[in-house]
Parts: sequence; C-alpha cells; structure tokens
Amino acid sequence: MAGDAFLQSIEHNFKNAVSCLKSGDHADGISDDLAEKIMVANSTYVVRFGVRLRGKLFTFTGYRSVHSEHFEPVKGGIRYAPDVNQQEVEALAALMSYKCALVEVPFGGSKGGLIIDPREWSESELERITRRFTQELAKRDLIHPSQNVPAPDVGTGEREMAWMADEYKRLNPAELNAWACVTGKPVTKGGIAGRTEATGRGVEYALRAFFDHPEDVKRTGMIPGLPGKRVIVQGLGNVGYHAALFLSTENGALITHVLERDGAVVDETGIDIDDLKQHVTKTGSVKNYKGYVESGMEMLEADADILIPAAMELVITEENADRIKTPLIIEAANGPVSAEADRILRDRGVVIIPDLYANAGGVTVSYFEWIKNLSRIRFGRMQRRAEENRLAALIQGVEQLTGKPFPDNLIDEAVRGSAEIDLVRSGLEDTMRSTYAVISDVWNNNPEATDMRTAAMMVAVRRIATSYQSLGI
Ligand code: GLU
Repeated sequence: MAGDAFLQSIEHNFKNAVSCLKSGDHADGISDDLAEKIMVANSTYVVRFGVRLRGKLFTFTGYRSVHSEHFEPVKGGIRYAPDVNQQEVEALAALMSYKCALVEVPFGGSKGGLIIDPREWSESELERITRRFTQELAKRDLIHPSQNVPAPDVGTGEREMAWMADEYKRLNPAELNAWACVTGKPVTKGGIAGRTEATGRGVEYALRAFFDHPEDVKRTGMIPGLPGKRVIVQGLGNVGYHAALFLSTENGALITHVLERDGAVVDETGIDIDDLKQHVTKTGSVKNYKGYVESGMEMLEADADILIPAAMELVITEENADRIKTPLIIEAANGPVSAEADRILRDRGVVIIPDLYANAGGVTVSYFEWIKNLSRIRFGRMQRRAEENRLAALIQGVEQLTGKPFPDNLIDEAVRGSAEIDLVRSGLEDTMRSTYAVISDVWNNNPEATDMRTAAMMVAVRRIATSYQSLGI
C-alpha cells in the first residue's frame, strides 16, 4: 500500500538523521529509546460516521493523527482524497512535527484525512459531510484552539475551513478563541491576508534563498540566478499554481512544462500561468490549451533545470528516479520522492530541496493566522498610520535639508505603511531565508549531512529531542 511506503520513507529519513546526529564530532547523544518515542505517532483516531444524503445513509471514514505533542496545539492539514489511509496520515503528521520544528513554529505535528472524492459531491453535500466530521473531531478535542488546529491540504481549502470554524463556534458558543480552532480560513471569516498563496510563496522564497548561496548552486552545475531557468511544475493546484505564478511573473523563470492529471502543457518559451489556470478553472482540464500534449508521469523526466512536484507523495520512485534530468528538485508537495529514489538521485548528484523546508510556508502563515485570531486584531492596524506619518516627516526633513523634492518614483513606496499582507510576506520571507541559512550551514559543515534533506532533518530532530529532554520525558 502506498501509505506504508510513504511512512517507511519518512521513518527512514528520521533514522538517518538520528544516526548522523549520533556520529561525527557533533554527537548529540539522542538515545535510541528517545528516538523511538519521537518517531512513532502518539495517537491516531479513526472515525466512521453516517450522513444522510440523496435519500440514503452514506458512511464516511476519517482520520486525525497526532504525531508529537512536545508543543501544543498540534498542527496540520486535513486532506480529502479517495485513497487516504492511516499510514499516510501518520506519515504526514510526522512530517508536520519536523516541519514546525525546522521553521521554529511552536506547534506539534498532526494530520487528518477523509476518504472521499470531493468531485463526486455537490457543495451543499460537502458542507454537511464536513460539518459532521467536525462534530466528531470536536468531541475528542481533535479540533481545538489550544490543542489541535487543522488547516487545508489536498482537496480542501478556505471553504472547508470556514465550515469547520463555524461548526466549532456553534458547538462552543462561549469560546472566546473559537476562530483559532482552524487556519486557512477566508479573510472575511477570521483568516489572514496571504494564507492562500503562502505555500507557493514559500517555495519562491526557498528557491531565491538557494540561488543566493553560490556554493550550493555550484553543486547542481547550473549557472547562478533564477531568471531564465526552465521549470517543470507537476500539479496546478493551490501550491503549484502560486509557485509557478510567482516564479514566472516575479523572478523571470520560464515554466516550460505543467503536468496535470489529464495531460500536460509544454511551451519552451514559458507558459502564461494565469491564462492556463483560467482555462483549467473554466473547462476543468488542461486539454485543448495551446501546447497541450497527452502525457502521464513521463513528463517529470523532461529536459529542464528545476522540477517542482506540487501534488501528491511518491511520484518519484526507484522506477523513474534514474530518468529525471533536472539537476534541482524542490518538493512543494509532501513526500514526492521515495527514500529509495532519494538515494538514487543523490548518487547522481541531483540536489533536492526537501519538503519539510520547501513547503513550510503554509504552516508558517497558519501560525501568523492563529496569533491574529488569539489577539483579535488585524496585523498592522495599530502601527500603519503612525509609520506613514513618521516616514512623511522624514521625507519633509530630507527635502528641507537638501532643498530638493523627493523623487516622485520613490515617494509612494517610501511613505507607505505596512498592511497585513506586507507583514505576512515579510515574516514568511524572513522565516524561509533564516531557515535556509541554518540548513545550508549544517549541509556544508558536517560530513554526515550528505544532502539537504539529511541536514534539515538533523536540525528538526535535534530541536524536538531537546524539547523532550527539557520536558524530562
Ligand atoms: N497542509 C499544509 C502542510 O502540509 C498546511 C498545514 C497547516 O497550515 O497547518 O503543511
């Protein structure tokens, strides 16, 4: 079963990081029993509930796994997909623990899933199913502002999060922090500006950070700089779309291949991502778009510089790893490269920017949203005008001192106070940049850290172990 292979992959990466931490000059003394405790999921709740729809009773199966509670609340998305299973949810929950530790977001790891194909249900049916699922989770505090805070994942988005928050509020009308029970909500329902774009934006910042480290770029044999790089994107969902959009419109990269479930679009001069997305939204498919080709996973093996798997786990395995041509892979999805493929690619010198770092932008902005909900105020609301007044005075001073007017082309940007979106992007960029510097340092200065995934896992596992040790467990 794919879930088994995925869980084994994550556990393999974890064990590898532990053994690196135990060897070399930097032995951290993580004992085997502590490592075992950290690796396994603390609990996984399976719920089967009935919903009366279309004149009959349908039974749905859902999961919520809690991997590590060294920080609470625990955090992680809820996935709606037909092949969700316990091992997959446990693997994803573990990844959330490592991800949060790596980007210093003070949450433990959790993940949920519901076995469902959302495309088979109408909006109102999905709402009833989601609300029933929320009731089941709420009964066990598996949705709770201070214990367990879900978020969107594959097959879910703002809409589902709004239903969940609303259902939680109905069940807990006196709970002051009820909005903080889930993140990824629409801005009009307690969400935060920039959450929807956050994971894709994080991928952009991660790539920029990578290209700002010439010694790391050298390992790929590519010439420095993002502009002109040819990119393959697999999956034009929320994450793939935003990553592709920002890379092409703001960084000069060329999206030469987009691979979707029903074929691919190829254009060596660069695909207009917004235009393609509009076509997909309108027609439900990439078919009939200019450059459309009938293609399956073999498009991952096309000739380009950067490969961005942005859909599901285990799309690169020992079956196809040998044929991947890009010297750089950035894992926008969770677990797209199996442990075996990872070894093959590493041996071939392919650099992989790993999921626990590359797609951590989502949970980072979720953290900002959660703080916003607890503080009940929009970021920037108190400071924005004060900032603008101070900057205007500064500009007046410069004009008085120089006797010259401040340049017109700079004035707007110079006096503009920070709105919520500016602060969210600033916090996200800072997180991605500073985390990259930590990973790169470990990668370049520890012989055991042979690749970026091992380096990132070493940082994450060391932090979780320190947290457990200081808890006295
Ligand atoms: N589902 C996303 C992830 O895998 C977001 C989790 C969150 O925001 O809590 O990282």
